[in-house]
Amino acid sequence: TVQDSLSSPVPVVRKRITGHVGFSNLPNQVRRKSIKDGFQLTAMVVGESGLGKSTLINTLFNLAICPPRESLHPAAERPKTVAIDNIHADIEENGVRLRLTVVDTPGFGDLVNNGSCWDPILKTIEDRYEAYLTQENSVKRKKIIDTRIHACIYFIQPSGHSLKQIDIEFMRRLHEKVNLIPVIAKADTMTEDEVADFKERIVSDLAFHGIRIFQAPIYDEEDEENIAETEAIARAIPFAVVGADPTKTFRASNGRLIRGRGYPWGIVDVDDPSHCDFILLRRMLVHSHMEALRERTADVLYETWRTQRMLELGVAQDHSVFDEVSPADRLREDRIMHEAKLAKMEATMKEIFREKVELQEQKLKQSEVELYARHTEMKEAMTKQWNQLMEKKKQLESGSSDVVSYSFYWVVHGLTV
Ligand code: GDP
Repeated sequence: TVQDSLSSPVPVVRKRITGHVGFSNLPNQVRRKSIKDGFQLTAMVVGESGLGKSTLINTLFNLAICPPRESLHPAAERPKTVAIDNIHADIEENGVRLRLTVVDTPGFGDLVNNGSCWDPILKTIEDRYEAYLTQENSVKRKKIIDTRIHACIYFIQPSGHSLKQIDIEFMRRLHEKVNLIPVIAKADTMTEDEVADFKERIVSDLAFHGIRIFQAPIYDEEDEENIAETEAIARAIPFAVVGADPTKTFRASNGRLIRGRGYPWGIVDVDDPSHCDFILLRRMLVHSHMEALRERTADVLYETWRTQRMLELGVAQDHSVFDEVSPADRLREDRIMHEAKLAKMEATMKEIFREKVELQEQKLKQSEVELYARHTEMKEAMTKQWNQLMEKKKQLESGSSDVVSYSFYWVVHGLTV
């Protein structure tokens, strides 16, 4: 199946979690559509190992859906290239089910030569588009299994300087293929001011390199909550995120359980918007902009890819014709064909011309004969008339016309009787 063909050799992890995530109270219109259509999001996490990708995924969905990296890839067997791991999770909340697929990419940026570490990621994205296209074009259209990646969360090292070359190269290659959501990893390792400065630098770097990240659209101009949330998201990108330490539990003074990380100077609460942007990222993914992510993937990114793919297929077909004959030979062949065509046309025209001339000559000959016959006939008639007149003249000259006529009558009559 499509699902199988896209899966990696790594076993798929399936978890059923019931913790509160927030998608069950999606904006009404979106929720109705999502429940009707089935409800699914595929997110990809990319970034160097150790930046806290697994931890963040687990924090996002409030359970260990992403196993510790060591269990999938023990240190000795660390992938030598970028591997692609599919992790499926069925999340149920207030009776609403979300099928989440997380595509993890261990090995990214971990190698000495990271020349084209984005290739396997690009290939995964495009393979999934290809699988979708194949289903769309198949004669027997069943319900299409959509494995397209709706969001790519890209982890940026919290260096505080600027984007690294590998970040720019990666995002430049992927921004037109997938919804890019850049995040600053382990934001708790930086001060608030450092985070603000770093965000500014990242935003200007992205603009400088013409990289288009996912811009959350406003769904409903009337919906104040949606407007405020979308504006907050736009201001916060790239999100500064912190993953909760699963090994520790913290409690607030009122006894509430806190998910976060502990320091001698205090606790970073991942669910507190004044500590980090984790909540904004989560709400954007599975609440306010889940549908926008899916829509942009289907209507813009996939459509652009599909158009290019169709063009490629068209060009490839033309090439196969050209491949057999060299361009010079092809030109010569074309010229010979053209000349042959001209010669044939000329011969046909000559033949038609000859036929027409013959016909005309025949007509002329015919009319010549007729004319000659008429001429002879007329000449005879004239001669006859002339002779009669001559005869009459002679008779007039020799006597009275009556006598002459009478005697002429008897001469002629006597001769014939
Ligand atoms: P991955 O390789 O990107 O999946 O990284 P992991 O999620 O396995 O995390 C690597 C290490 O970083 C672990 O020891 C985590 O406890 C730690 N870590 C994860 N998230 C954070 C964070 O937000 N802040 C800090 N300070 N450490 C983190």
